[in-house]
Order: sequence, then C-alpha cells, then structure tokens
Amino acid sequence: MTEDQFETIAIHAGQEPDSATGAVVVPIYATSTYVQAEPGVHKGYEYSRTDNPTRTALQTQLAALEGVGEGDDGGCVATSSGLAATAMIGYLLKPGDHIVLPNDAYGGTFRLVAQVLTEHGIEWTAGDLTTEDGIREAVQDGTKLIWVETPTNPLLRIIDIALAAEVAHEIGAWLVVDNTFATPFLQQPLSLGADMVLHSSTKYLGGHSDTVGGAIVTSDEDLFDRLRFLQNATGPIPGPFDAYLVLRGIKTLGLRMERHNENAATIARYLQEDSRVAGVWYPGLSTDPGHEIARRQMTGFGGMISFTPVGGLEAANSIVTKTRLFFLAESLGGVESLIELPAAMTHLSVEGTDLEVPEDLVRLSVGVEHVDDLLSDLDRALG
Ligand code: PLP
Repeated sequence: MTEDQFETIAIHAGQEPDSATGAVVVPIYATSTYVQAEPGVHKGYEYSRTDNPTRTALQTQLAALEGVGEGDDGGCVATSSGLAATAMIGYLLKPGDHIVLPNDAYGGTFRLVAQVLTEHGIEWTAGDLTTEDGIREAVQDGTKLIWVETPTNPLLRIIDIALAAEVAHEIGAWLVVDNTFATPFLQQPLSLGADMVLHSSTKYLGGHSDTVGGAIVTSDEDLFDRLRFLQNATGPIPGPFDAYLVLRGIKTLGLRMERHNENAATIARYLQEDSRVAGVWYPGLSTDPGHEIARRQMTGFGGMISFTPVGGLEAANSIVTKTRLFFLAESLGGVESLIELPAAMTHLSVEGTDLEVPEDLVRLSVGVEHVDDLLSDLDRALG
C-alpha cells in the first residue's frame, strides 16, 4: 500500500510516464487489438474488451483511492455506466437470492432490481436502513446482498456502513456501498467493512458532465477475479476516451470536493434559515438525523442538498424553472450547479411503489461556482 496522500495518489497511481514516448499523461489508446510476436506472446494486452491501457490506468487510480493499492488483493473494474456496474453485481447472484435496498435508492438502481433482476429469479426488499432494526427487519434467509447508498439519493439519508457490514457478514451476505455521492475523498467504505464499492463515475469522479461511466472496487481477491471475468465475459466496458475523461477528472477530485462541500454547507444553512423553505435535507446540518453517523464515517458532507419550498409542488415547479446558474437537468456531481425535481425526473421509476420521494422535493447538485452567485440565483428563484 502506498504511503502517499489522497491528492498525490489521484495524480500518480497507475499513471507512470508512457514507457514508449515519455508522455506524462496516459495516452488514449484507441485500439481494439494488439500485435502478438507469436500466438499468445504479447505485452499484456490482447483485445480491448479484455484490457486497454487507458482503462487499466483508471482502474489502478480508482482502486488506490478506495484503499486498494498495487500489490493488495482486489482491484477495480471500470464499466460503461453506473448501471452497467450495478448489473454486473446482479450477475454475481443466482435465482432465489435476495437483495436488501434502501427505500430511497437511486431510481435506476431500483428499476434494475425490481424490473430486470426479478425476471431472473432474484428477490428484493426495500427498507429504512438508517437503523439497525430497519436493516435486520429487511434481511431474510436468502439475503445475499445488502445494498447501501449513503448519502441516499435524493433524501440524503445516512446509513451506518460499519453496522450494515456487520449485519451482512453475520448472515453471509455481501455489503455493497454506492459511493457516488460521497466519492472516496469523503468516504472509504472498504475500510469500514464493505465488500464492494460502486460508482457512477458520470458524477463527481468525472466531474465535468461530459462522460458516462461506472466502476466497482473490491479488496476481496475472489470477488475481484469474478468481476474481472464478468467484465470480459459480458463486455460493458468504457471506451478509451471515456476512461481518459474519468482518469483526468479524478486528478482534481480532492480540490473540487472541497469546494463542493464548502458551497453546499453555505447554501444548506441559508435554506434552513429562509422562511420560504419548509424543509432541508443535508447531512452537514447539525439538526439532520444522519449528522452524527456522517461525521463518523465521512470527512465532509458533499455537494448534494434537497429541500421542499413553502407552497408545495407549484412553488417547486416555479423555482426549478427560474434559476439562471442552476441548470434544470438530471445528473449531478459536475462543476456546474444543477437543480431538479426527483419525483418527476430522476426518480420517476419509483412511481407506484412505497418508496417515499415527496413530489415537491427539489434536489440541488451544488457546483464549484462562486457561492455568492449561487445564493443570489436561489434567492431570486425562491421569489
Ligand atoms: N448511483 C447513483 C447514486 C446515481 O445517482 C446514479 C445516476 O444518477 C447511478 C448510480 C447510475 O449511474 P449511471 O447514470 O452512470 O448509469
């Protein structure tokens, strides 16, 4: 394991100067195949679904940031989207296996489990996983996977990772943590007992809203072997250009996350004190129910905030169409600020279930613009 700090690992892990040319930036290896001296004799690369040097650099970098250095057991598999990574975890299961999910998991995760994996005999239960009782009530005899998102999307609830890992391991299940909102800069689930960490690298890792990608990191050698096999056998890989964009984005992850944290904390406090706002969900507020656990397992509270305005759905609809800097758009984690209505946009696929996303909940992805400009924009939109 390297002794370097996070920011240094982000810039150096997997990113030696190119051996052929000395280029200090990992090249985009736009090639599908690699010449062989004799059948089976090659330089470590045969075909780009199996391995590509740009993707290898990204996988090494991200694994190291989640605490899995070169020489450690385990590693990272990068995928073509966050949901491709989720689907790959689904391939680890067998008919009859059972998954436990938080009841406000990302809508797409929920759709994949409820509408795709169930077709293959996988069962699931969604519950409130913010308490030990909630986790224990949701697990069953066949539970093979506890899926945790923390902070959750979009209610920003905090789930105790170490506790979920303890329950999962007591019953012989794996704990997967979707670390998309926190990123390894703020939270390192493998060190808290998780078996796998999942990312939508579309979000903070890429950081510039210009690519779609995903990844799974594990420190378990057998799981890693199986995931490597699945990456090649099922093929949902990022192309070299997308791998490069995420690799480049991650170099500034620490810098960006510090600014996301600061901006979001200022905006959350502002919203909490504003009489035009009915409720604010942000784990950095001392009044937030998840605050104490978040302080224990995170080093900052991230850039996502949800709130409900006074005036319900009508007011919420009006706010999301009146901001100038906060673009009305799905997704999150880019340098630019975004605003959306989860119940009508990102979380449509939870409709008709008991998953609770208030219809007037407004979600903010707070970017890295100057916070004063963002505050003025919200002030104007709140009317
Ligand atoms: N996990 C979380 C928390 C997300 O917010 C998303 C997408 O919004 C995903 C997973 C899925 O990632 P992708 O859109 O890259 O497939």
